[in-house]
Amino acid sequence: MVSIGSKLQEVKGRIVRACAAAGRAENSVTLLAVSKTFGADAVRAAHAAGQRHFGENYVQEGLAKIEALADLRAQLQWHLIGPLQSNKTRAVAEAFDWVHAVDRLKIAQRLAEQRPAWLPPLQLCLQVNISGEDSKSGVAPADVPALAAAVAALPRERVQLRGLMAIPEPAADPQAQRQPHRALRDLLATLQAGGLALDTLSMGMSADLEAAILEGATMVRIGTAIFGQR
Ligand SMILES: *Cc1c(COP(=O)(O)O)cnc(C)c1O
Repeated sequence: MVSIGSKLQEVKGRIVRACAAAGRAENSVTLLAVSKTFGADAVRAAHAAGQRHFGENYVQEGLAKIEALADLRAQLQWHLIGPLQSNKTRAVAEAFDWVHAVDRLKIAQRLAEQRPAWLPPLQLCLQVNISGEDSKSGVAPADVPALAAAVAALPRERVQLRGLMAIPEPAADPQAQRQPHRALRDLLATLQAGGLALDTLSMGMSADLEAAILEGATMVRIGTAIFGQR
């Protein structure tokens, strides 16, 4: 079995090569290791290999892992990348560092109210339904500017809007993969031109991280290529 450490090295190599191909600095992309369905021991192994940012899809599973890895808490950044229901916002506001899938104002308002004052501000991204699929969660692109303005107006000592996140429809062809990533980048540029100080494009997974980086991803969310098949 290939170790988590060597899989991490492989993924970092892919990121470095994609950054070179895009003419970007390699430290302009943060690797988020998506540990959903894998145990705290797998996260511990990745941490030992130098990984610091971890993504979880399911609130309860993420909370259990954060608890199990309390001894490493100060060194880790925990990102909730899956959907968030309003009855779970308090636990998330108290435990996570980032929430990537904000798709309505009410969730962001609750996170702002419930973020403990002694913690740094919770970092937020809006999830955009960039491929326009009926089944996918996320805000329609046309509704993003109004939601972004409203979220950015919440108390910044509690929540900070950082940018946009998307899960594009899978495509095998690298050129086809780039199109939705480019659309998300263009949407971020529109918000920036409108005066919002945003710096994060959370896009790119195991199968399309190169396409995402070519289109400006600043955070790639990689599960399978690090931890194996789920
Ligand atoms: C599972 C998941 C990932 C990681 O996907 P892989 O294809 O395993 O790299 C990234 N983002 C989200 C939102 C996910 O749910």
